[in-house]
Amino acid sequence: MGRIIAITNQKGGVGKTTSSVNLSACLAYLGKKVLLVDVDPQGNATSGVGIDKGEVDQCIYDILVDNADIRPIIRETAVENLHAIPATISLAGAEIELVSTVSREVRLKKSLKEIQPNYDYIIIDCPPSLGLLTLNALTASDALIIPVQCEYYALEGLSQLLSTVRLVQKHLNHGLLIDGVLLTMLDARTNLGIQVIEEVKKYFQDKVYRTIIPRNVRLSEAPSHGLPVVLYDPKSRGAEVYLELAKEVIRNG
Ligand code: ADP
Ligand code: MG
Repeated sequence: MGRIIAITNQKGGVGKTTSSVNLSACLAYLGKKVLLVDVDPQGNATSGVGIDKGEVDQCIYDILVDNADIRPIIRETAVENLHAIPATISLAGAEIELVSTVSREVRLKKSLKEIQPNYDYIIIDCPPSLGLLTLNALTASDALIIPVQCEYYALEGLSQLLSTVRLVQKHLNHGLLIDGVLLTMLDARTNLGIQVIEEVKKYFQDKVYRTIIPRNVRLSEAPSHGLPVVLYDPKSRGAEVYLELAKEVIRNG
């Protein structure tokens, strides 16, 4: 049974999509069967694995809002062993359309159940909000990865996220775990980064991944080529650290 992991933080620009794409690709590179699920209307994870959004006719929207069969919506990607469920801008309406539907928080969970045995890992890229799309992701997941940018106000907004996680654990998904907090975009030249690492470790203790993602220009260039960094530049620091993270995630179960 595939382990379902959502990458979530309602703050934008903290490295959710970069981590979803590159963790998925590295798990696949290590021989795991992986499904990447894009639940952000921006669709950046979709294009990040080489899917042309202009050619997508059915996407995660159809699964969530119209109860469409999940199987024909799954696509192959630029990476061997990595499949994806794309998102397009049509998903932007889903947040509102879902409000009046039955069992609106469990739609993703129900659909993923059908194909979960086919994968080792299912990675969900969440949008920058705590609305119904994110709730669907949290309800469907076994575990969460919370990326935190090594910047001022790193911890800002996390208490709101954690109280949402507690509500989901209480009412929708008792088994939901925080697999780990992932420190991202560390600029090793500044003391600030070190301070943030200490602050986050004090707060989350052993829940912080040992792998810390540095700023790496290859990670920001790769998406414009529709490639995860392990294919775009396998020798780069970006590829190395996401491979380390993938191994850490595998060790966690
Ligand atoms: P989110 O999905 O949380 O909004 P993204 O993953 O899209 O965040 O990252 C925001 C921006 O920062 C993107 O332009 C991305 O290419 C860039 N970025 C993310 N992680 C890194 C990194 N480790 N090094 C350099 N650029 C990064
Ligand atoms: Mg994103």
